[in-house]
Amino acid sequence: MAVSHLSEDEQALIEAIREIALERVAPRAAEIDHTGEFPWDMKELLAQQDILAMPFPSEYGGIGASELAIVMAIEELSRHCATTGLLLAVQQLGSTPILLAGNEQQKRKYLPSLASGEWMAAYGLTEAGSGSDAAAMRTMAVRRGDKYILNGSKRFITNGGLAQVNSIFAITDLKIGTRGISAFIVEKDFPGFSVGRIEDKMGIKGSQTAELIFTDCEVPAENLLGREGDGFKIAMMTLDRTRPGIGAQALGIAQGALDLAVSYSKQRVQFGRPIADNQGIQFMLADMATRVEASRLLVYNVAEMIDRGDRDFSKYSAMAKMFASDAAMEVTNDAIQVLGGYGYMKEYPAERMMRDAKITQIYEGTNQIQRLVIARDLLK
Ligand SMILES: Cc1cc2nc3c(=O)[nH]c(=O)nc-3n(C[C@H](O)[C@H](O)[C@H](O)COP(=O)(O)OP(=O)(O)OC[C@H]3O[C@@H](n4cnc5c(N)ncnc54)[C@H](O)[C@@H]3O)c2cc1C
Repeated sequence: MAVSHLSEDEQALIEAIREIALERVAPRAAEIDHTGEFPWDMKELLAQQDILAMPFPSEYGGIGASELAIVMAIEELSRHCATTGLLLAVQQLGSTPILLAGNEQQKRKYLPSLASGEWMAAYGLTEAGSGSDAAAMRTMAVRRGDKYILNGSKRFITNGGLAQVNSIFAITDLKIGTRGISAFIVEKDFPGFSVGRIEDKMGIKGSQTAELIFTDCEVPAENLLGREGDGFKIAMMTLDRTRPGIGAQALGIAQGALDLAVSYSKQRVQFGRPIADNQGIQFMLADMATRVEASRLLVYNVAEMIDRGDRDFSKYSAMAKMFASDAAMEVTNDAIQVLGGYGYMKEYPAERMMRDAKITQIYEGTNQIQRLVIARDLLK
């Protein structure tokens, strides 16, 4: 286990989350995957236990947890159920634009209900024609009196249609590239806001991924985050801060797969002895454990950089997300191999873990985009 520098209170909190994850989250994981229904009970559990309050400062009703504690919480939940781990990660993702760029009035209005878990948050950057190239977005926001009128749509939005509070990025000036993008807080009840298709996915099945449609959607001008033109910067600063959470989700999935492979290999007997007695299996387990530990070090390291107030953490954030998600893919694949035919069956969680791991290489910027972030920093 990597060295961590949590306060005693936070250590106790993570210990409690580890128990909750084992006793209450783990038993629900297969069913959430099977039904593909949003796990309202898990959302309530995380709200009641103040887990959703972790990313919010105490003056806004949160518990002001360190980034290290947040990634450890996401890891512990994802070890048993990646969909449940994502509830905390996306609460942070959707709220970070407000935490970073919101004024006092906006923070007072939105953060307490997000911290209590009464409201969920979503982050709307991606569109049908703009994924990796986020600046190619087409959603427009035009100022009319004391409102902005939004037209366009967002694709693949986690919590889309369930979140009361949506951080939405739209163009306010078409002629000046990324400096013409602005960020808005859009409530799901605002006139002109609607939900389009709900995606059917390979993994994280209980998480709702939806299209958001804005048809002359009326957003009060006071819901602009920062100033006009700040949106792209807010979007990128948010991802720098939340990618460690996706690294943590990947880390948790990989740890869960390793735990399963180790215990199965000790029990499964072939040729008259446990398969764990074969050096070929032992070497696989050793490689899996090393990848998990290296992921943990990268994820915890960047979380601690954020906690220390280091400014230059973008590259480390990309490294942590990229390495941990690639490792999760390899480790879950190896776990299936260790379980043999049983690993391929839905009776065991290994195949679900592999399907869940895949998304961590894609969202919050694909791993190709993480490599671009890292290379740009190296070559600047
Ligand atoms: C389940 C799920 C949940 C999501 N949740 C959210 C959310 O809450 N909010 C949100 O805004 N978005 C969300 N997304 C969107 C996600 O961030 C995008 O899917 C992702 O950024 C990739 O964009 P794309 O799918 O359009 O792929 P594309 O950008 O079309 O990429 C296709 C392929 O080309 C590669 N590629 C593209 N450009 C380059 C390049 N310059 N160099 C090398 N390779 C390149 C990519 O790496 C990828 O392999 C979600 C996606 C999924 C699947």
